[in-house]
Amino acid sequence: MTLPDSLWSASAVSGIATPALSGQHGADVVVVGGGFTGLSAALHLSEAGKSVIVLEADEPGWGASGRNGGQVNPGWRMLPSEITEKYGSNRAPAVLDMLNRACDLTFDLIERHGLDCDAERPGFVHAGFGRFGKDFLDSWIAEWGELGVTVERFDSAGLKRLIGTGFYHLGMLDPRGGHLQPLSYARELARTAAAKGARIHGHSRVTSIHEQGAGWRVVTQGGEVETEHVILCTNGYTDGAWPGLAKTVVPITTFIAASEPLDAARLETILPGRHAVAETRRALHYFKLDRDNRFVIGGRGNFTNLNEPGSVEHLKATALEIFPTLEGIGWSYRWGGQVAVTPDHTPRLFKLATNVHAGMGFNGRGVAMGSMFGTQLTRVVLGKEPDMPVEPIDIIPNHAFRQFGVTWYLASGRLLDRRDIREDPATFV
Ligand SMILES: Cc1cc2nc3c(=O)[nH]c(=O)nc-3n(C[C@H](O)[C@H](O)[C@H](O)COP(=O)(O)OP(=O)(O)OC[C@H]3O[C@@H](n4cnc5c(N)ncnc54)[C@H](O)[C@@H]3O)c2cc1C
Repeated sequence: MTLPDSLWSASAVSGIATPALSGQHGADVVVVGGGFTGLSAALHLSEAGKSVIVLEADEPGWGASGRNGGQVNPGWRMLPSEITEKYGSNRAPAVLDMLNRACDLTFDLIERHGLDCDAERPGFVHAGFGRFGKDFLDSWIAEWGELGVTVERFDSAGLKRLIGTGFYHLGMLDPRGGHLQPLSYARELARTAAAKGARIHGHSRVTSIHEQGAGWRVVTQGGEVETEHVILCTNGYTDGAWPGLAKTVVPITTFIAASEPLDAARLETILPGRHAVAETRRALHYFKLDRDNRFVIGGRGNFTNLNEPGSVEHLKATALEIFPTLEGIGWSYRWGGQVAVTPDHTPRLFKLATNVHAGMGFNGRGVAMGSMFGTQLTRVVLGKEPDMPVEPIDIIPNHAFRQFGVTWYLASGRLLDRRDIREDPATFV
């Protein structure tokens, strides 16, 4: 397997050499999976003085980390009040604080280690329609406001001045967010972790993990590692290396299309502030400009064939609806990848066995959160309390049918979205 042919693989910085694991080795910690989560963990654990081996089935960034929309977005789909209800008033403040710090952590990592990944932080725009969008955004602004985050609200006209389209009824600008080149970010995390001492092996799929004395033996086709701790960071690409773990998330394929670079006339009106934008729609789209001013738009599949990599026609049509001046633009790249969905759209920190943990389930919001989960897993290994609660493995009931469930939810959501789009903004803004 190689990386998909994408805008990111065509424009990323080069990766470091990551030879396959061969022979017998030892380490304090084995990290399974070389995406943002595993690489952030490897970096932070190495900085803390642990010897770390990362085992990645393909190459660092091969999974969702090298394919995503590059949006560093703040928050989860759950509002702070819902997070408080889920985790309880004792635990929720730590979870909310972690959530609040995730974008800062990402941009701080980039700055502190000089990661070359086209990072920009103009803020994150959430754009919405109708009553659903209004209620969500008003609650977001009020609830995060109570927690000290100043989020600016825009009506349709104000949003048009900000991002160049009057397509939406309303929106908000959250200063915490931004965007980056995701494959470069993954490769730069790998380079930095390796510089701190982590040994990173590509083409080293973990096939099994066994108890060995007081520790663990992690096996790949070419070699083995004896270790005290194992952390699994395989998210939407989780296989059978740890029995049952793949059934804790539902992998859903989503797609991205990238245009040719926009000309100066288009750039005057399309994302003039270079914001990262995501919608409040149930079947949402998100978009941004890359460093070469290509329009990059992502969204879910076309629902008739979720795994069809060419199914980006609906993304191009949506792009034209949002920005009619894109008419006639050429589209240079299209690709897809798997997000890991959980039933309540919150990520999970699992304890699978003594000194075996997993962090996953980012629900399409893993740029900042995967980076943050690397620090959460680091805390667990160092024997410190993480901000996220550590849970036992939680297999989703009727897992085999869940993909149909998510597909149905999104398809019905698309119908409700259409109703919201038709609402008259004057009746509710
Ligand atoms: C198309 C798309 C768009 C997205 N857009 C955004 C966005 O704009 N903003 C945002 O915040 N999030 C976005 N996401 C989600 C985000 O990319 C992910 O949440 C994040 O990258 C997860 O990182 P990770 O390190 O946990 O997992 P991954 O990056 O998926 O890495 C998991 C790795 O584990 C490896 N692996 C699996 N099994 C084994 C094994 N047995 N042995 C060794 N290695 C193994 C895989 O090869 C893979 O490289 C998007 C995702 C997709 C697919």
